[in-house]
Amino acid sequence: MDRYAKQVLFAPIGKEGQKRLAAARVTVVGLGALGSVLASHLARAGVGFLRLCDRDFVELDNLHRQVLFDEDDVRSGLPKAAAAAAKLARTNSEVRLETRVCDVGPANVEDLVRDVDLVLDGTDNFETRFVLNDACVKHGRPWVYGGCVGSYGMAMTVLPGEGPCFGCLLGGVPSPGSSPTCDTAGVLNTAVAVVASLQATEAFKVLLGRHDALAGGLQTVDLWTNAFQIVKVPRSPQCDTCGARRFRHLEAASTGAVTLCGRNAVQVTAPPGATIDLAEAERRLAPLGPVRRNAFLLKATLDGCELTLFPDARAIIQGTDDPARARSIYAKYVGA
Ligand SMILES: [Zn+2]
Repeated sequence: MDRYAKQVLFAPIGKEGQKRLAAARVTVVGLGALGSVLASHLARAGVGFLRLCDRDFVELDNLHRQVLFDEDDVRSGLPKAAAAAAKLARTNSEVRLETRVCDVGPANVEDLVRDVDLVLDGTDNFETRFVLNDACVKHGRPWVYGGCVGSYGMAMTVLPGEGPCFGCLLGGVPSPGSSPTCDTAGVLNTAVAVVASLQATEAFKVLLGRHDALAGGLQTVDLWTNAFQIVKVPRSPQCDTCGARRFRHLEAASTGAVTLCGRNAVQVTAPPGATIDLAEAERRLAPLGPVRRNAFLLKATLDGCELTLFPDARAIIQGTDDPARARSIYAKYVGA
């Protein structure tokens, strides 16, 4: 039995389409709620190469919607990218998987998108989406935006050079607190699955060269009020990114400390190229509080917060949403 029999029978894919999917390369940025469903759909469909990027690790309150993970992943404290790759390798061994435990930002985004055919947005914040948009427009790579809060969500495909980009849609990064987040409004797992399925279907159409079948606008859906629509998005002549080709989100310096949506946590990043020896850090921190370590990260409880340290000297500090407090904990225990 061919693993893709039912998909090949679907006329717009067929045997030729299946070969195209097998030859395709895709980067998935963010492996939380949307990213779990996206990566699962693409791996099961036989997309040949998937680069899986995520900065965070699996926690119990992820399991309600992040379908690639289970309680073992929570107990093991695995990074989402590593846990996702392990699950997908068991799901479809024909797919080549690249695991990237990293924060996608101006310093690394171009390397993550320029050698693939398509980029999928599984992020939870506008800053990263604008960075992705700049990189994808600059390098002419299609990407599919997706967002979901409560029972509501939306998706839009960006085809650089052919249609509007994310900057045309939103202008700039919305000011903090101006839009609802999963933190304030919660999220329905069914809405996540629908939005990610809209994105993944758009991805198949792009990879198959079927631009004629794309939604052609911003798809919005509210599963609670039963509203589905497609809103036409014009290309903006004032758009910095696709109009003037000024990629200011790629030039922006990383702020160093960002509050993570819905986590009561702050991520502190180190300069590009920084590394830290986790075994050495374990020896240094062990006398100060409980420390545990796996192949990917170290966790220590210090000053009432949980510090998770990655080999790239990045840390996620849980128990505070104050970037200043997180920075001071980082400086005290990791280094300035
Ligand atoms: Zn634009």
